[in-house]
Amino acid sequence: MSESTWTRFFDMSSGGFEKTNYAIIWIEAPEEQATRVFENVFDIHPFNITCACCGSDFSVDVYYDTEAMREGDAIISKEDVVNIESGFSLGAIEVYKGGTK
Ligand SMILES: [Zn+2]
Repeated sequence: MSESTWTRFFDMSSGGFEKTNYAIIWIEAPEEQATRVFENVFDIHPFNITCACCGSDFSVDVYYDTEAMREGDAIISKEDVVNIESGFSLGAIEVYKGGTK
């Protein structure tokens, strides 16, 4: 696939529960923009700390390929990012089904 930047939000189950319907969420954008989109779509802040002993709600990392994507991960593509930042709301969230992206 072509070069791209993905920010991965890994739910740490802070406080003992997941914050969205997805354990892992990928957003095709650099971290700052991806964080903005994440807040817009899920209406929660990924760096919120639900439980002090568990730490941050999400572990956030930037990737330059999709090797680490796994089946069932939520994906918000660059096209979705552009739409969201233009003020459109996202429809159903795409889920990675494996194979080539
Ligand atoms: Zn805890």
